[in-house]
Amino acid sequence: MIHGRSFSIFRRKLLDWFHQYQRELPWRGTNDPYRVWLSEVMLQQTRVAAVIPYYERFLQRFPTIEALASAPEEDVLRMWSGLGYYSRARNLQRAAQEIVARFCGEFPRSEKEARELPGIGAYTAAAILSIAYGEKLAALDGNVARVLARLFAIEGDLREGKRWQELQDRADFLLDRKSPGDWNQAMMELGATVCTPRSPQCLLCPVAEFCEARKLGMAESLPAIRKKRTLVEVALASAVFVDGQGRTLLLPAPESSNGGDQHDDIAALVSKMWHFPTIAARTKPDKVLHEHLRALLALTAKTQRLVLESLPPARHSVTYRALTVQPYRIRCEHLPRIAGAKVVALSEVAAHSSLAISNLTRKAARAAMLPSKAPSGD
Ligand code: SF4
Repeated sequence: MIHGRSFSIFRRKLLDWFHQYQRELPWRGTNDPYRVWLSEVMLQQTRVAAVIPYYERFLQRFPTIEALASAPEEDVLRMWSGLGYYSRARNLQRAAQEIVARFCGEFPRSEKEARELPGIGAYTAAAILSIAYGEKLAALDGNVARVLARLFAIEGDLREGKRWQELQDRADFLLDRKSPGDWNQAMMELGATVCTPRSPQCLLCPVAEFCEARKLGMAESLPAIRKKRTLVEVALASAVFVDGQGRTLLLPAPESSNGGDQHDDIAALVSKMWHFPTIAARTKPDKVLHEHLRALLALTAKTQRLVLESLPPARHSVTYRALTVQPYRIRCEHLPRIAGAKVVALSEVAAHSSLAISNLTRKAARAAMLPSKAPSGD
């Protein structure tokens, strides 16, 4: 148990370990709030190795909060393209715009003001303010919660309201008030590299002697596994028009004629990025898409004969949705006219292009670059 004199030994051991063994990461050693903030947002639900190149490219393109605030949204999404969870990028930019408008471009020091910004919750605010400004705030995320649950042998679902509050109280209690930024990073680093979800490496742990779960032989069985939200299967159909010059059509946002769940499913797919005309289609995707296109094109052009050529499906999971997109190639002499659509080379969509598009859209474009098979219907 951590108490009395052992308390200061515990802190010293963890901080010494952190200073000696922390990984070299591009956002380490900086107390620039913009850089800390960007790294924290990118690291949400994304692995460190995947984040590093995005972090570096993003900072090259938007080196300051002002540069991010004044950029076209499409540029921001383009630099985020492939990292997923695009609401993070839009919130980041909206927050940057608020920081410029309300705080003269300087990230606010107050926790209350920080948490009023889009996309910034209790954890992110505590991480940024402690690392950048030395504010005495303990950051509690899933990693830190797991470490605390083991150190104090806390059983049950950690995300339950009362238990999460208990963990926050423990995190506040342990916080090293002289160096809260290093302390928070040390706790996170321990969770990421030693006290990992599976097979914690207790023999290498700098604070093993204080750990209740280890003493009780429960290190591997804590924390309790959470019940996962049931995965919802979502089936979508997309139209990849290709004209004689190898050009295609992309739409800028989910079609406004969709509503409710369908709209959410399509929004999960395209997240307001450029995308092929798409519709939710649980059964008979070719017929559903065909109907959708007739309705869409009738707005701007006479109904035309459409031959839908089935392509290999693309799959992706977003939070609790398992998306399957069935793309169809539609060859045409002239691309149809759709308000707001962009005409672009298919090869550009298939490559890691300069457009803000999701990986699923890119996969569908790659499928449409394949040689033709027999068409599936009219
Ligand atoms: Fe985690 Fe093991 Fe260290 Fe306890 S002793 S904190 S379970 S790594």
